[in-house]
Amino acid sequence: MCYAIPGRVKEILEKTVLVDYFGEERKAHNEIDGLTVGDYIYAQGGYVIEKIPAPEAEEILAVWKETFFELQEVDLRLSRLDLETKGIGAETVRILDRAMEGKPPAKEELLQLLRSEDPTHLDLVFKTANFLRQKYLKNACCVHGILEISNHCKQGCHYCGISLHHKALPRYRMTQEEILAAVQEAVKRYGFKALVLQSGEDPGHSVEELEEIIRTIGREFPALIFISFGEIGIDNLKRLYDAGARGFLMRFETSNPELYAKLHPGQTLATRLEHLRKAYEMGYLIITGGLVGLPGQTLEDIVNDIYLARELHAEMFSFGPFLPSPGTPLAGFKPVNESEMLKVIAGARLVEPTEARVLITTAFETLSKEARRKGLLAGGNSVMLNVTPRQYREKYALYPDRAGKSELIQTQIDETIALLGSLGRSPTDLGAK
Ligand code: SAH
Repeated sequence: MCYAIPGRVKEILEKTVLVDYFGEERKAHNEIDGLTVGDYIYAQGGYVIEKIPAPEAEEILAVWKETFFELQEVDLRLSRLDLETKGIGAETVRILDRAMEGKPPAKEELLQLLRSEDPTHLDLVFKTANFLRQKYLKNACCVHGILEISNHCKQGCHYCGISLHHKALPRYRMTQEEILAAVQEAVKRYGFKALVLQSGEDPGHSVEELEEIIRTIGREFPALIFISFGEIGIDNLKRLYDAGARGFLMRFETSNPELYAKLHPGQTLATRLEHLRKAYEMGYLIITGGLVGLPGQTLEDIVNDIYLARELHAEMFSFGPFLPSPGTPLAGFKPVNESEMLKVIAGARLVEPTEARVLITTAFETLSKEARRKGLLAGGNSVMLNVTPRQYREKYALYPDRAGKSELIQTQIDETIALLGSLGRSPTDLGAK
């Protein structure tokens, strides 16, 4: 299985290489010594990850070449817009028309688009988002893996099932050997080219240990590594970047500072945003976003969240529904319905049509069986599969009944590929930009 298409190096200009994919040219940043024109490489998120032997690359490309263009045809067919839709207000049509010309809606306009509960109106908003995804990013869908290395956490976030509120939860911390074995399996056996390492805020994994793990991964199992250990401090972010991490996944959770303060005792939105801003300056690819449907949150807040994610240079937008979790202060509240989540996915795509990946999150998949299919048809173009060893997955209990909590990695891959195939999406990303 392959989550990146091999590209062929066409030109090298210092650290930038021009990569050819079936005639399409993209750029990638290269840190590998001795790369020459004609070499085959894997790239992810705009970085060259690994050089691959020509026979291996040519074999994979031969398989892909046939399906690549077939899938694009299916996707194109499913992405056509029905502009004849009746009963849509002139103002909505104007905003959507402008969006299709590459002019994203202003905040007030997005609010107006998303405030509606009318299914015909919303359907047109979702379809426009899907059209934009198709227009600018074609049929590529990112398939990242996530490895949850520890569920210890020193924070008391009111919604979170692994926060210190949840006293009854059995805790685990994977050893370095276990982490490396899981990464090896994900990269070497299943072909993941991008992996997120995530945990609670756990001082039990020292920064030295994390550096060593990331360095070893870089040497032995090349992949684009995203770290997601929460607010580890700016210095530590830099250390892990220097060790080879190239992505930072951290949601700001909500852009409303008062709501943030209520839900995160002892933490501030300002510190969280500082981490995200400094990480971007260091060169990290940013995945960020927030929770949708928090008690006390308004649609204005959520629209502000979408714009904040854009302002923070989100490479990938990650928004998920708040799901009530036993043992936490918010256990008694209700989550939003499916269409509120689809609004956020479409909203993210409308404001950032040309570049962004928009993730269909596991929490959304937990909320709705149709999340992936509907989300991918409303502007989404990314999914994450869980590669945490199964004995630990259940304990990473952010909320109950998490989607994919017991499926084998192979089953998750098979289901994903089948769904993507039915939508004309290719389970791969061209890697270079
Ligand atoms: N310590 C890391 C990882 C936190 S857990 C960090 O601080 O970034 C990953 C994400 O799970 C959180 O950012 C939060 O948005 C989400 N999450 C936690 N509890 C949740 C719940 N009850 N419902 C939905 N998502 C939740």
